[in-house]
Amino acid sequence: MEKTVQLYEGKAKKVFATSDESLAIVSYKDDATAFNGEKKGTILGKGVINNRLTNRLMKLLAENGIPTHFVEEVSERETLVKKVSIVPLEVIIRNISAGSFAKRYGVEEGIVFKAPTIEFSYKDDALGDPLINDFHALALGLATQSDIDTIRTYAFKINDILKAFMLEHGIELVDFKLEFGKLPDGTIVLADEISPDTCRFWDVTTHEKLDKDRFRRDLGGVEDAYNEVMRRLLGDTN
Ligand code: ADP
Ligand code: UDP
Repeated sequence: MEKTVQLYEGKAKKVFATSDESLAIVSYKDDATAFNGEKKGTILGKGVINNRLTNRLMKLLAENGIPTHFVEEVSERETLVKKVSIVPLEVIIRNISAGSFAKRYGVEEGIVFKAPTIEFSYKDDALGDPLINDFHALALGLATQSDIDTIRTYAFKINDILKAFMLEHGIELVDFKLEFGKLPDGTIVLADEISPDTCRFWDVTTHEKLDKDRFRRDLGGVEDAYNEVMRRLLGDTN
């Protein structure tokens, strides 16, 4: 399947149309941004790593009953996906306090929750992705109650699957962001990416950060951390 016109260029990926109206090709860039685009940089090799990791994790989720947009990896940076209409909600699951949760509620990072939490942000860069609840999402017409119920059920199931998989590879899944989309027939599927850009991963013994916080917080060793996650989850370093 060949790319035709570019439909969209985002901060980390480009989306292209294909000759099949129902399919798109996503192309992963090395560009990195944080704090709603205020901090910009490059993480060499990130596009390849995030493409390959996302596809591995989407396959794992599909095997475990989660419908996803994944169709086929077409090159090291590019993947054929089902074109969806993105539900404009960032769905965030947390197992351990970190990032904006720790800041908002004035707690330290690293508190292991008895049960995972879920929150939604309205995916709108101009507004800075504000937190919203179900009622707000319904009022704004962003999704139906049934969509939200499906998304919540999938998100917690995804957490169970990913948490167990990461632990097998010595990684603690601290928190992560998911995006869901709708197929033309209304089916909700998991879309976008699952990578060190969109998850917090800590080494299970040292608690060393193996994710985009190394870039956000200028901790150094950014590329090494992305490569380490790929090595652990995919078994190689190229
Ligand atoms: P952003 O838009 O936040 O800068 P990216 O650079 O990752 O993010 O851009 C990728 C865009 O593609 C996102 O807006 C995402 O919602 C969208 N997207 C992800 N998967 C699909 C899909 N299967 N069909 C259509 N759009 C998608
Ligand atoms: N996240 C993301 N995109 C966003 C916001 C958050 O992928 O636009 C991910 C982030 O990488 C982390 C989780 O969602 O794994 C929770 O992020 P948090 O709310 O703590 O915000 P941050 O500290 O990134 O501002």
